[in-house]
Amino acid sequence: MAYIITRLCRDCVDTACVGVCPVDCIYVYKGSDHASFPNQLYIHPDECIDCGACEPECPWQAIFEEETVPEVFKDDTPLNYAMMEKTDDFEVSPSEKHDQPSAEQIEENKRKWGLAT
Ligand code: SF4
Ligand code: SF4
Repeated sequence: MAYIITRLCRDCVDTACVGVCPVDCIYVYKGSDHASFPNQLYIHPDECIDCGACEPECPWQAIFEEETVPEVFKDDTPLNYAMMEKTDDFEVSPSEKHDQPSAEQIEENKRKWGLAT
């Protein structure tokens, strides 16, 4: 089991999760196949130690324990696993500082991706 980054991260990518990961297992895609690997961060499932530190840090509430990923985001679990086959195209994400989204923005992002709120 691992923690999973879901599509709620897509195009938000504020990297707030990166700095708290004790094992540096949150990656950014550097390849060109953006149809397969969209713009979000990815947790390496075999490197993740299940500490849970990243989950509350994500302002977009995009991170879930694998067994609690919502049904509408079920494809995001294999997507995180797929990065293990393309590790040359990934690197540990740098951590940058971004503004905190508003509660309205967070809810709007969830609606955009079909998560009932
Ligand atoms: S659960 Fe812990 S080890 Fe896994 S990605 Fe999050 S911070 Fe890193
Ligand atoms: S904090 Fe959340 S939205 Fe930001 S990069 Fe990490 S998973 Fe994505």
